[in-house]
Amino acid sequence: MRLQTKILGSLIPFIILPIILVGILAYQHLYATAIHNARDQLHTLIHQIDSKINGHIERAEKNLSLLASNPLVIEYVLAEEEQRYTLMHRPLIKLFNNYQQSFPEYFELRVILPDGYEDLRTVSDKLKNKDDDASNSDIFKSLTDTEMSKSHDTAAISLMSLHSDTQQPALFTGRRISAADKTAALGTRPELKALLVISQDTSFLRELTNLRTVENRPDLFVTNAAGDIFFSTDNSDQKLATKVTRSFIRNKTFDDLTEINLNETPHLAIVHQVTDQVFLTGLLPQSTLTAGAKDLNEIVLLLTLGIILLTSLTLYLTIRIFVTSPLGKLNTLTKAIADGNLDINIDITQQDEVGDLAKSFSDMRLSLKESTQQIQELAYFDTLTGLPNKITFLDRIQQQIHEAKIHDRMLGVLFFDLDNFKNVNDGLGHQMGDLLLMQVGTRLRDCTRGGDHVEYIGSNFSTAPRSVDTHVLARMGGDEFTLLLPDIHSPEETSKVAVRILTKLAMPFILNDHEVFIGASIGISIYPADGDSSETLLKHADIAMYEAKSRGKNNFQFFDHAMNAPVSERLSLESKMRAAFENDEFRLYYQPRVPVDGKIRYEFEALIRWINPERGFISPAVFIPIAEESGLIQQVGEWVLDKACQQIKTWLDMGYSDVLVSINLSPVQFNYGNPASSVRSALKKYNIEAKHLEVEITETGLMQNENIATTILLALKDLGIRIALDDFGTGYSSLAYLRRFPIDTLKIDRAFINDLEQDPESILVLESIIYLARSLELEIVAEGVETLEQLEILKARKCDSIQGFYFAKPTPPNEAMTFFDQYFEEWQKVQSSQN
Ligand code: C2E
Ligand code: CA
Ligand code: CA
Repeated sequence: MRLQTKILGSLIPFIILPIILVGILAYQHLYATAIHNARDQLHTLIHQIDSKINGHIERAEKNLSLLASNPLVIEYVLAEEEQRYTLMHRPLIKLFNNYQQSFPEYFELRVILPDGYEDLRTVSDKLKNKDDDASNSDIFKSLTDTEMSKSHDTAAISLMSLHSDTQQPALFTGRRISAADKTAALGTRPELKALLVISQDTSFLRELTNLRTVENRPDLFVTNAAGDIFFSTDNSDQKLATKVTRSFIRNKTFDDLTEINLNETPHLAIVHQVTDQVFLTGLLPQSTLTAGAKDLNEIVLLLTLGIILLTSLTLYLTIRIFVTSPLGKLNTLTKAIADGNLDINIDITQQDEVGDLAKSFSDMRLSLKESTQQIQELAYFDTLTGLPNKITFLDRIQQQIHEAKIHDRMLGVLFFDLDNFKNVNDGLGHQMGDLLLMQVGTRLRDCTRGGDHVEYIGSNFSTAPRSVDTHVLARMGGDEFTLLLPDIHSPEETSKVAVRILTKLAMPFILNDHEVFIGASIGISIYPADGDSSETLLKHADIAMYEAKSRGKNNFQFFDHAMNAPVSERLSLESKMRAAFENDEFRLYYQPRVPVDGKIRYEFEALIRWINPERGFISPAVFIPIAEESGLIQQVGEWVLDKACQQIKTWLDMGYSDVLVSINLSPVQFNYGNPASSVRSALKKYNIEAKHLEVEITETGLMQNENIATTILLALKDLGIRIALDDFGTGYSSLAYLRRFPIDTLKIDRAFINDLEQDPESILVLESIIYLARSLELEIVAEGVETLEQLEILKARKCDSIQGFYFAKPTPPNEAMTFFDQYFEEWQKVQSSQN
């Protein structure tokens, strides 16, 4: 996980959780406030409606009491029926009409007789009178029930009820009028004479709707005690309202906002008693409250999310700017440093731990750069003189050879060695020696033209030479210096430089008051004449320098190929060898391989000899490697094979039967195809059997190219040729490894045999070799046996054959065979004398 994710991941919960908690608390608080407000507002609303209704009722009651005390009304109720109709009807109607004009909501005023008959009725509109009998109306019943008649005689009663004529809800207010008859005796109890009833229309309730300022707009219902609804604000479920009202009235729960479940949805309900008969019910689905809260919820949620987002973003940016981005830069820097790029810089300037870290990194980079430069200087420059060292010099020659090749130019390499340096070092001490070398460096630098030496230019010095025409002055070590002169037109140019240097160096050096004279010997090699590689040119200049020294010092010598004796020897031998085939200078000698197991066998190793008229005898150890290098080995091999087969044929024809000639096979011959085919044709040419021929190959020869060697050996084996492993004991010497090759004979090397007398341990090794060879069913031949002791040791350990000067040297074939004739004759004599 990235650092950024980790920090954000661990910090954000601590920020988010409190924010969410605050959100929840805020939500709860706001919800509670919403309920509280709803309650308050509902109470206020109900109070308003209550006072409105009560206002109507009170006014109606006041009017009723005014009417009841009106003499006309009293007169009227006390009058006889006939008198009432004829005399009093009219003025009373007039009175009623006056009232109705003042109170238009009084759509009906009635005088009802105690038996329920509507005695007098005035209506505002043309309200039809459907029925004269009011005895069934609620208001009549309430006014005439026994309780009422007993106690509240003059009290008014208001109630809501359906009007029987209009079938519309109406507010009825009525009162009793009781009086004693005029004729009755004084003190007689007044009795009920009539009921006065005002019917008000309830349209004023409609205004209530507008009173609902409560945001949540509760449903309001005006009911009677039975829960019958006379008015409702909405067409809401009236049954529900009825049910609620009834149960609240039954439990006398008034003015208390209660949470109840209606139709499985939570509601807030309140019932208020306006009068004995009028109730006001408010219903508020809780969802309308939570709807408000929901909005709130969303706001809180959005706010929370916003804060989280903002905080996260700020955190992210802070971490990014101050931590991860600088760390990223540091990471890049580290990688660059690891890749060796020390020139990269970082721009972290902040003043904190990361900034400190960056500074440490920067310091580290600088010191690394410094030490890398020092290392490079050490690797490529000489610390004493500050001149390029041998590595740089060789590198530079190689570069210039490349340039010279392209532009067909010459190069000159000068090799100096101070003539009397050893005297200074030994006589005045190493410090003086060092001082001298420094002065020589400076002087050489001065007298080599133009100051255009190679110098260390940052880390780029080896890839970007400053000029193609760059002289390079270098110190090889000790008192040896070199100078490379690029782009010369003739070797003479270098000699001019050499003379200048010699003259300069001939002048005295002052070393702490000591005046010393030194000279120099200079060797010069020229590209391309004296070599085309930096090593060769340097070597040849070195050789020329020795020549100069041998010619009396303080001079210079150009390299001459004659100085390179070994090489020229090689070349001259090579050309002589080519001619030797034509001039018939080669001979094939045979060295007997003497059997010591008592069987008569004529075995020889064929060894080539070269007798050159000029050079005399040349050892195969000298010319075979040259033949191998030049490819002449192929011709040599063919010649030996032919000669050997011819000799085998001669011996067979002479009557010798058990003849075996072993010839040496160079691994280089493998490069020129499969020797098996040459062998086959040679055998065919001389008509001899393959069993007379053996090839010797060295262990290293086998290992150089295992696959090809195996193929070739198998091909030879197929022909029936024997295979001998030559020089065993000088190389890898693992018989287990050699098992994979089809070997018949093991030839133990001369060096090993040499050790036998001195080193008892080598006898143990010899025994184990013989033991192993036996188990692999190999014939064992010991080479280079020169003494009787060696012979005895080998004989005792059951070696099969012995080859060495003790018995015979390699000689021409006749002599070799003569050896065997004499040897076996002698041997047979000894045998028979023993018997
Ligand atoms: P090599 O194959 O190990 O041959 C044996 C060498 O040991 C021969 O040297 C032989 O003269 C020498 N030698 C034998 N017995 C004694 C002894 O008792 N004492 C001492 N000191 N030396 C002994 P030579 O003839 O000078 O040949 C040297 C090498 O040249 C051979 O070593 C072989 O590797 C190579 N060589 C010789 N003739 C041929 C050839 O015809 N073809 C190839 N390819 N290589 C050859
Ligand atoms: Ca050999
Ligand atoms: Ca050998």
